Amino acid sequence: MDPTCDPARTTFVDVPADSHFPLQNLPWGVFSPAGGGRRCGVRLGDHVIDLGVLQRAELLAVAGLPYDVFEHGSLNAFMVLPAKVRRAARARIHELLSDDCADLRDDAALRSRVILPLAEVTVQMPVCINDYTDFYSSREHATNVGTMFRGKENALMPNWLHLPVGYHGRASSVVIDGTPVRRPLGQMLPPDAEQPVFGPCRLLDFELEMGFFTAGPPTALGEAVPVDEADDRIFGLVLVNDWSARDIQKWEYQPLGPFNAKNFATSISPWIVPWEALQPFRRAPVAQDPEPLPYLRGDKSATFDIELEVALTTPEQREPHPICHSNFKYLYWTMHQQLAHHTVTGCNLNPGDLMASGTISGPDRGSYGSLLELTWRGTEPLQLPSGEERKFLADGDSVIMTGWCQGDGYRVGFGEVAGEVLPAREG
Ligand code: MN
Repeated sequence: MDPTCDPARTTFVDVPADSHFPLQNLPWGVFSPAGGGRRCGVRLGDHVIDLGVLQRAELLAVAGLPYDVFEHGSLNAFMVLPAKVRRAARARIHELLSDDCADLRDDAALRSRVILPLAEVTVQMPVCINDYTDFYSSREHATNVGTMFRGKENALMPNWLHLPVGYHGRASSVVIDGTPVRRPLGQMLPPDAEQPVFGPCRLLDFELEMGFFTAGPPTALGEAVPVDEADDRIFGLVLVNDWSARDIQKWEYQPLGPFNAKNFATSISPWIVPWEALQPFRRAPVAQDPEPLPYLRGDKSATFDIELEVALTTPEQREPHPICHSNFKYLYWTMHQQLAHHTVTGCNLNPGDLMASGTISGPDRGSYGSLLELTWRGTEPLQLPSGEERKFLADGDSVIMTGWCQGDGYRVGFGEVAGEVLPAREG
């Protein structure tokens, strides 16, 4: 077993028992200390570890790790490194934080500069995202949406079981947990109307997704990443809320797919859970029938057992009310296959590209990953304990997503991605 995943290893840093961020996780992120600036770190319990300070103290001697790699204000300079170097850096950081390593443990002055309370820093966007792609890889989600719009007989498009459908999204509007999302204005065709209208989106929705960041040296134009090389090309995973304006989407999506319906905001959790930390939770992928074409096959294709939940608060429903419980393992297409399909044309990758899974819906009603499905297009509103009902999101509502891998007595988790809906700006 990778020692960084060993559940028996413990740390001298105080970590709450139910934390998403034990020593076995050590997710990557970027934060601003009280004095300002942006620094790369890992999270451990309710603390962040300042990696730049650790490196300047000569404790991060890892072959191939550039000296100032954690001092560029984003993780990109680290993500560009080969998998071997990145894994060695993680192993050394893990060692330094372990009970049985004295280097940091016994140096109180250094400890106070390296290990900072989360409450004293501001968490930032971890990556300068070059490109953002969104897939559509849940068979249940695609079937539900297809059934609503085209009927049960034609629910899945003929290509769906043969390739991981996706579209190129918008990187500039990706935001982190806690960032409010303004209700978009746009063009839509109201039911039974003959002419489109302009105004605030009326059918604002969330999509429960997860995304991975690419890593390693940029690939050359013309180069492909096969399924079995994806493990070295995936940096880690985050939770993703792909906010969606269903009425704008309905009017615009033919013939070229979503555009304004999706480009106003996409929220991610700010701590990137390393690919290495997820390996104990790796599972065989869903059986695929028909068998995909050879370029989408590989021995190393895999999925992960990641529990996912969505909760809602409203101006009256202050206690977060769970509305969805799903699991990453329900996805039909794996991230290995998404990456292989994305690059098979020769489309090049840069470290820090974000690729999201598509809405992760499971087999039953309580596992649907969007309001569109949970309320069946608004025909069956959700009843909240406050007495309110919801078909789609109202101003002042917050969507809170969380996810974790359940180990034996510990969790490797993703924290949260939450966002409050603000009223549309004056049109
Ligand atoms: Mn989506």
